Amino acid sequence: MKVIKFGGTSVGSAARIKGLLDIIDPNARQIVVLSAVAGTTNALVEIAAAYTNGDKAKAEQDIEALRAHYNTLIGELFSTEEGRYNGNELINYHFDLIASFSNQLFTPIEEKIILAQGELISTSLFHFYLTEIGVRSKLLPALDFMKIDEDNEPKIDFIRENVNELLLQSSDHNFFITQGYICRNSFGEIDNLRRGGSDYTASLIGAAIGAEEIQIWTDIDGMHNNDPRIVKDTKPIASLSFDEAAELAYFGAKILHPQSVFPAQRYNVPVRILNTMAPQASGTLISREGAAKGIVRSVAAKDGIVAIRIQSSRMLLAYGFLRRVFEVFERYKTPIDMITTSEVAISLTIDDTRYLADIEKELKDFGTVAIDLNQTIVCVVGDFGPNTHGYASRVLDAVKHLPVRMISYGGSNYNISLLLQTEHKVEALRSLHNRLF
Ligand code: ADP
Ligand code: ASP
Ligand code: MG
Repeated sequence: MKVIKFGGTSVGSAARIKGLLDIIDPNARQIVVLSAVAGTTNALVEIAAAYTNGDKAKAEQDIEALRAHYNTLIGELFSTEEGRYNGNELINYHFDLIASFSNQLFTPIEEKIILAQGELISTSLFHFYLTEIGVRSKLLPALDFMKIDEDNEPKIDFIRENVNELLLQSSDHNFFITQGYICRNSFGEIDNLRRGGSDYTASLIGAAIGAEEIQIWTDIDGMHNNDPRIVKDTKPIASLSFDEAAELAYFGAKILHPQSVFPAQRYNVPVRILNTMAPQASGTLISREGAAKGIVRSVAAKDGIVAIRIQSSRMLLAYGFLRRVFEVFERYKTPIDMITTSEVAISLTIDDTRYLADIEKELKDFGTVAIDLNQTIVCVVGDFGPNTHGYASRVLDAVKHLPVRMISYGGSNYNISLLLQTEHKVEALRSLHNRLF
C-alpha cells in the first residue's frame, strides 16, 4: 500500500483537485493525505490572530473572504446539484464554526481548532468530488488516530494500532483519504504537527502501516541542491539517503517538514518527492541506499537561530561542565542544534527561544554569557567521511568574505554547518552554490 501526500498547491484549485486523478490510480489500494487548499492555513492563522487581538471586525472580514473563495471553488469543482449542495453545506458548517468563536473566550485551544479546518475541508471536498464522479473512497478521520504526547512527540504505537484498526474496519475499501497536519494532543484536544506538518502525517502513516512507499507530491520536481527561492539554477537531486534528507529538512529545506524523514527512516519506507505540475519528472527518491559517494549534495539554511556563548575559566581541565550546561537546556526542553567548544568556552545554538531568559539566567552561574539573535545556520550536506578531503576548505573559501560565527564539521559524515548573521544568508547560499556546484 502506498501513502500519497498532496501539498497545498497540489489541491490549490478545482482544476488541481480534479487533476489528482491523472496522478492517482483510483483502483489502487492507497491512503491519500491532503493538506489544506493553498493559502488556507495562512488565512486561518490571520483569523485566529484577529480573534486573539480582540479584533472581531477583521476576523469577520477575513472569514467572509475565505468563505467566498471556497464558494467559487465549489462552483467549479462540482457539476451536479447534489455535489454543489454537499459542498455548500460543508463550507457553511466549517465557516459557521469558525465564526462562532467570536462570542467565546479565545484561547490557544480555539486557535488550534481553527487551524484544523483547512485539512478537514480539503479532504471532505475531495471525497465528495470522488463520490460525484463515481469513485469509491473512504475518509479516515486523522483526529481518531494521529496523536502526540505531552512533549508534542507523535505516539507511534497509538497511531499504528488505531490506523491499522480503522483500515481493518473498512477492508472493503481500497481508496482512503485523510487529513495531513492535524492531530490530538495528550489532553485529547485538537492540535497540529506544526506548519508543513502534512509531510509528517504521511511519513507517520507510512511507518505505521509499513507502506511500500510514501509519495510527497508538491510544486517542484524534488529536493533541489539549494533553496530555489533564493538561488537561481538549482537542480533536483535524483536520490538521497534518509540521513542526508533528514539533515536538509531539519536545516531548512522547506520542501519537507523538519521531522518528516525520521518515521520513514526508522521503518525503512522509501520516500519519493514528486511534482504535481510535472508528474513525469522523476523527482527525488529518499532511501537507505540513496547516498552518493564523493560529492556535495545540497545546501539549506535555517533562520531564527540564537547563538549562546558561555565562557568560564572553570571549564579549564574540568569534567562534568558540559553536562551541567546541557542539563539547563534539558530542564527547559529546549533542543540544541549546533555546538562548538574551546578549552574555556562553549558556543551553541537553539531555535526555540521560549525560555531564553530563564536559560540565560541559569547559565550565568557558570560564567559570562553572550547571546546573539538573528542568526542563520547554513548547512552543506554531502559525503564528508573520514577519507575525504578538501571540502571544508571549499566551503570556507566560499564564505571567506562573510563573518562566520560558528563552524561545525565532523559531527556526522555528511554535514558541514556554518552559523552567520541572517543578513548574510542570501550571499552565503549563492556563493556556496557557485563554488560547490
Ligand atoms: P507543499 O505545499 O506541497 O507542502 P511547500 O511549499 O511546503 O509545498 O514545499 C515546496 C517548496 O519548498 C518549493 O516550492 C520550494 O520553493 C521550497 N524549497 C525550499 N528549499 C527547497 C529545496 N532544497 N528543494 C526544493 N524545494 C525547496
Ligand atoms: N496546511 C498546513 C500548513 O500550511 C500543513 C501543510 O501544508 O503541510 O502548514
Ligand atoms: Mg509543505
